[in-house]
Amino acid sequence: MQTTLVIFKPDCILRGLIGEILQRFEKKGLKIAGIKKAHLTTELLKEHYAHIADKPFFQGVVKAMQSTPVIAVALRGVDAANVARKMAGATNARDAEPGTIRGDLAMSVQNNLVHISDSPESAEIEVKRFFKNEELIDLADKELEVIYSKDEIN
Ligand code: ADP
Repeated sequence: MQTTLVIFKPDCILRGLIGEILQRFEKKGLKIAGIKKAHLTTELLKEHYAHIADKPFFQGVVKAMQSTPVIAVALRGVDAANVARKMAGATNARDAEPGTIRGDLAMSVQNNLVHISDSPESAEIEVKRFFKNEELIDLADKELEVIYSKDEIN
């Protein structure tokens, strides 16, 4: 079982798309293990986006990500990181495949609605950045058994 991080970015919040996007994850079978409002400080963004911190567009990303509070969501499931990442689609929403969140709902490379951890390894680090262990809900066996076969969850 994996837990991955999704951040609903300010453009998502301002466009009123939280419900639509959250519903896609829930319908797929990813469970909401944690959800909270967060303000992204510049320090946190430099850490979270270390791989793009030297890019010319980084200041624009910081400004956009701080324009409203964001909603951080921890999603839990088997291979949750890869599944959620695929559902988001390509970074540049204009290139994202139809059927993906960005492909269906966005037109921008910067304002692409959601952040999603890009691997199981970064998911582990990023979930810890936003949630304490005791803030995450454990899934009941009954909930899991209806989504997966027994051998997939053991
Ligand atoms: P992803 O969010 O798909 O993992 P990256 O980690 O490469 O993509 O970039 C982080 C975020 O920075 C993107 O989601 C997007 O908001 C922004 N970004 C990436 N590339 C550009 C760009 N060329 N111009 C403006 N913003 C960008």
